[in-house]
Amino acid sequence: MKITILGSGTPAPSLKRACSGYMIEIGNDVIVMDHGPDAHRRLLESGKRATDVTHAFFTHLHYDHFLDYGRLVLQRWDMGADKIGELDVYGPPPLARITEQLFGDDGVYGPDLAARVGHRLSLDIFELRGGETPRRKPSPNVMEVAPGSVIEGGAWRVTVGEASHVQPYLQCHVYRLDCAAGAMCYTGDSGGVSDAVIETAKGCDVLIHMAHYESGTEPSPEYRAGCGGHLDVAEVARRAGVRTLVMSHVLEHIDRPGTRERLINEAAEIFKGEIIWAEDLLQITVGDGGQRTRAQKSSEW
Ligand SMILES: [Zn+2]
Repeated sequence: MKITILGSGTPAPSLKRACSGYMIEIGNDVIVMDHGPDAHRRLLESGKRATDVTHAFFTHLHYDHFLDYGRLVLQRWDMGADKIGELDVYGPPPLARITEQLFGDDGVYGPDLAARVGHRLSLDIFELRGGETPRRKPSPNVMEVAPGSVIEGGAWRVTVGEASHVQPYLQCHVYRLDCAAGAMCYTGDSGGVSDAVIETAKGCDVLIHMAHYESGTEPSPEYRAGCGGHLDVAEVARRAGVRTLVMSHVLEHIDRPGTRERLINEAAEIFKGEIIWAEDLLQITVGDGGQRTRAQKSSEW
């Protein structure tokens, strides 16, 4: 199992850190978990393209976690030229309604799609890509899931847990993925020391946890309960007994030389496993000796 960090940032615009996105490769399956703004660009930089992606999971429907969903579906459909199956998509409600509102006949992209399946010019391009008319519109297979749901993917299994974030406005998920090589858990956005998150992450090789801010600087108890502070994140990792903690979704003002090292050292007082400060395009292999690499930025684009 190879994990590539596509986006380790926050909603704040950044050229260094794209918004939330992760890619997990297991055999021929390429799974993305969250696909926030610029995560798709990082996917291209990692050498993949939309047509390689087989499954998409969304933890919650904050825009910094799914704004590139439209791009993923449209480019996959357009370049795929009807030769690949529909994307399998999992997430909280109202993901099915949003998907219809994006790609349905009356949706945001409805006029574009009507032109692309109707105009001869677009059909010429489609046929040059190997497609056969009549051309179909994209229709992702959306499955709305909830904490407790289990998705069997053949070579992998995803278990849905509950994050501690902005409920009840948004349903917020943690995803745990188990495969022959090991297990990883991605919290999406989550704060505090949540028993539900600890339970979901129990014994994982890799835990990717939102580590948004420096503990002790939170403006309210609600902020602490919904956003990862570095000490709470370390406590979650300790109690879950994971091997590696990846601290991600980091605010710019803690992402500075000196501050960063201090926070990692303080977290290491609590959690004795390996700690990784996330970086876009960092790759973590689970199984096979567990290497750390960096995706070579693809220049063929
Ligand atoms: Zn977020």
